[in-house]
Amino acid sequence: MRISEIVKQKSKNFVKNGKILKEIETPQRIHFTVLSKDLHSVIFDKKEKSWSCDCQFFSLKQKPCSHILACKLYLNLSRKNIYGK
Ligand SMILES: [Zn+2]
Repeated sequence: MRISEIVKQKSKNFVKNGKILKEIETPQRIHFTVLSKDLHSVIFDKKEKSWSCDCQFFSLKQKPCSHILACKLYLNLSRKNIYGK
C-alpha cells in the first residue's frame, strides 16, 4: 500500500470512531482536536483555505496528514447531514 492510501484509511477510521472534535469556529478559522495516540490540533483557515496540524508528519512533509484528511472528511459529512436531505 502506498503511504497516501494508509493515510486515507487512517483518516476514515478517525471519523468512523468519533475521534474528531470540533472545538471552535470563528469567522476566520475552525479548530479541531483529533484524538489520536497523542492529541493533535488541526486548524482550518477559511480565508486561505489552508489546513495545518501540529503533528510530526505534517511538519516534516508539509503534506496533509491523516488528521487533516479526517477533519476534511468530517466537515464534508457534517455538511451533507445539514444540506443533503
Ligand atoms: Zn497531523
